[in-house]
Amino acid sequence: MQAFLPRLEIALAQIQENARLLCALYEKKGISLMGVSKAVLGDPAIVAAMLQGGVRFIADSRLENIQKMQAAGLVTQFVLLRTALSQAEAVVQSVDISLNTELETLQELSYYAQVQQKQHQVIVMVELGDLREGVLPGDLALFIKETVALPHLKLVGLGCNLACYGGIKPDERNMQALSTLVNRIEQAFQLRLTVISGGNSANYEWYQATPAVGRINNLRLGEAILLGRETVSRKAIPGLHTHAFQLIAEVIESKQKPSRPFGTSGQDAFGHVPSFPDRGLRQRAILALGRQDVLVSGLTARNQQLAILGSSSDHLLLDSEQHPLRVGDEVTFDLDYGALLAAMTSPFIRKQWLQGSSPAAASQPC
Ligand SMILES: *Cc1c(COP(=O)(O)O)cnc(C)c1O
Repeated sequence: MQAFLPRLEIALAQIQENARLLCALYEKKGISLMGVSKAVLGDPAIVAAMLQGGVRFIADSRLENIQKMQAAGLVTQFVLLRTALSQAEAVVQSVDISLNTELETLQELSYYAQVQQKQHQVIVMVELGDLREGVLPGDLALFIKETVALPHLKLVGLGCNLACYGGIKPDERNMQALSTLVNRIEQAFQLRLTVISGGNSANYEWYQATPAVGRINNLRLGEAILLGRETVSRKAIPGLHTHAFQLIAEVIESKQKPSRPFGTSGQDAFGHVPSFPDRGLRQRAILALGRQDVLVSGLTARNQQLAILGSSSDHLLLDSEQHPLRVGDEVTFDLDYGALLAAMTSPFIRKQWLQGSSPAAASQPC
């Protein structure tokens, strides 16, 4: 097979196994999983692996990704994590359940559900301290009152999202607060909420420590499935694969050069005035990979003898003094979530699925 460079190698069997192990873990206390596909742009092969691993729903923040998965023939319950008023018509068309926090948007969803002769399911997100999306607890009862009055919507649950913007950890307190709100809303409105979605990959430590999950019966997991980590302290989850993705780039220059630039100093390509320690003459290599492709700060060379010196739009500089490289050599990197997000999004990085075939829609060359 011809080697495309740079390329992102994706071990589908490892992703499937991560999903399977996480499903088994959370199932023990009655928690179902949504596999979150946004970091991989709804890549159908990866999402198929999540579904084979047992996740019950696929959730994405972008409608376009959900439509892509459906066009590729994936069948599951699709959840939209981020709902925009202007997309209401298409949301009702393509999505089974949407997460919501605004009445205007819910009214629009109900209107288009009527037009399309459907009932659209919604989960209302509650603000529990992270200060991204959510209805404040004090406003929830009124919000729910107006939501259940909308004739073509079905309120299926409540949810919350932590550790994304404000860095607030899921803990006993905020998880119990969500359970309490669920009980109150059910009593006040005489209804049954079936999906209580308590969070994301950051909920792992809470889950392991808690004596009782309360009403929480669902989590939405992206990073834990894809990279095998929880996201409060980015620890590996025991038993999971943490290297399902690897990025491989090509050496295009390899020379011994001084470690300090020479000439008169000014700004670099990104407006900074850099400074460099003088380490004498060093062997260094340039890779055909840059900031237009990936978040370079999120890369770690597999070979620990290689150190990333810096990067510009299209060039990545390595100190290769300990491990000399030749032009044409391949260098392999691990990726964190930010690097994965960018690499998946770069049209210049070829995606290569290992262990399993890729559906046609996902394999178009870039
Ligand atoms: C991105 C996102 C998730 C998944 O987060 P991970 O940290 O990748 O598990 C869950 N819920 C919402 C609302 C999100 O936007």
